[in-house]
Amino acid sequence: MMDGTRSSCINHPGVEATVRCKQCGKPVCNTCVVQGSTGRFCSESCRQKHEAYTQRAQELDGKARGSAFIKLRSILGTLIIIAAALVALGVAGSFMDVPVLSDVVWKIRDILGI
Ligand SMILES: [Zn+2]
Ligand SMILES: [Zn+2]
Repeated sequence: MMDGTRSSCINHPGVEATVRCKQCGKPVCNTCVVQGSTGRFCSESCRQKHEAYTQRAQELDGKARGSAFIKLRSILGTLIIIAAALVALGVAGSFMDVPVLSDVVWKIRDILGI
């Protein structure tokens, strides 16, 4: 007699299932369960599907973090270019005494401490 309240293994009718597949939710018994690094599954193909899905989720997470890093680096790059331009202006201003620039140059040199 089959017990309707308990799920039996998909491969062994009549044998009580102890585990549900993490990928498809099918019930399996201790003999049929496939142990994977991300959980327990009904079959090898479900294990591979779930592991591929988990890996892809991790890759997407890594990509999102990577693009944030690239954004930060481009901001830093712009700041370095501006700083270099200010330093060049300060150095040039100290060699060539340009009256119009001298006021600005001295202010910049004051800020930069050179
Ligand atoms: Zn499955
Ligand atoms: Zn089984």
